[in-house]
Amino acid sequence: MARTSQILDNALGAVGNTPLIRLDRIAKEEGLQCNLLGKVEYTSAGGSVKDRIAKRMVEEAEKEGKLIPGHSVVIEPTSGNTGIGLAMACAIKGYSVIITLPNKMSLEKEAALRALGAEVVRTPTEAAWDSPESHIGVAQRLQREIPGGIILDQYRNVNNPLAHEYTTGPEIIEAVTSTPSTVSQPSLGKVDVLVAGAGTGGTITGLSRAIKKKHNKDCIVVGVDPKGSILAYPDELNTDSVGAQYVVEGIGYDFIPDVLSRDPADVDEWLKTSDDEAFAAVRLLMRHEGLLVGGSSGSALSGALRWLRSDKGRAIAQTKGLNVVVLLPDGIRNYMSKPWFLKMALEAEPSPLARRIAEVLKTS
Ligand code: PMP
Repeated sequence: MARTSQILDNALGAVGNTPLIRLDRIAKEEGLQCNLLGKVEYTSAGGSVKDRIAKRMVEEAEKEGKLIPGHSVVIEPTSGNTGIGLAMACAIKGYSVIITLPNKMSLEKEAALRALGAEVVRTPTEAAWDSPESHIGVAQRLQREIPGGIILDQYRNVNNPLAHEYTTGPEIIEAVTSTPSTVSQPSLGKVDVLVAGAGTGGTITGLSRAIKKKHNKDCIVVGVDPKGSILAYPDELNTDSVGAQYVVEGIGYDFIPDVLSRDPADVDEWLKTSDDEAFAAVRLLMRHEGLLVGGSSGSALSGALRWLRSDKGRAIAQTKGLNVVVLLPDGIRNYMSKPWFLKMALEAEPSPLARRIAEVLKTS
């Protein structure tokens, strides 16, 4: 369903239905002949791709009678964005919310959560996922002790990948198939490559299923996993960097969530990315495309560009009309106070124009 000019019942009506945007300036700079397209999720009501799963997990739990307004307390371990989506849904529907959030996640996410009425419990980033101190362990402890406590559990809940199979994927397919091919913007009308990062893995798994089952079984799905995480497959890809810390939020884990498919039939190939290349790609998206994306969007784009330069990707990169879609999960709103962003925005080398301004103001 396209976002329309009709009145929506509440903010949940403005979840998803995000734009697919040409990244032509980056494509040109990279010498690509294929179309490079970004699925821009920060335009969703809560500001990220995770609004979709929050909405679906809450609505399905309601249908199953698992949530009781005024009684249920939704508790969820998250890197923040699922929490923001849940807090938004629960503000509207009248459930209390507790979010357990590793310390490394931004202050902006905590502030948004608290503004939406959620309680936030910070947990040590370095705690192993199965330790009682981790964001998952603390959520489980709270659920046992707090009456009405319920964990919808994005790591196991089938409604996580289903939200993407039923909404994100079909939106991409619709945009690619319904946009006419023109002489200046040729398109063969298919999603040929999809690149996305993985945290729970719900996004990439659901997108792959939507595209491969219903649209193009030959679509190449490329997963992006930060150095330090263990989600990439085969496992050897992870061995060099196990346990390394990384700053990018929302992708990578120290365990394999149930909802992540590591079946090569779903995710054809995995790439490991560094913070530095992710932040450089965020800058490209901002400076060349005017897109105010977050760090994991940079991870996805840098993985896409690296794959398109690789032996496997080169032929696709040089073919007019093929469509390479990159999933851009959230926006810079979540990271405005993070040192990596402030450095990028405020400490860049002065441009020729900035130097000229200084000269003018000195002499006048
Ligand atoms: N990027 C960001 C900013 C996120 O919050 C998440 C969710 N953890 C992801 C990427 C990855 O999404 P998924 O959990 O569906 O793999």
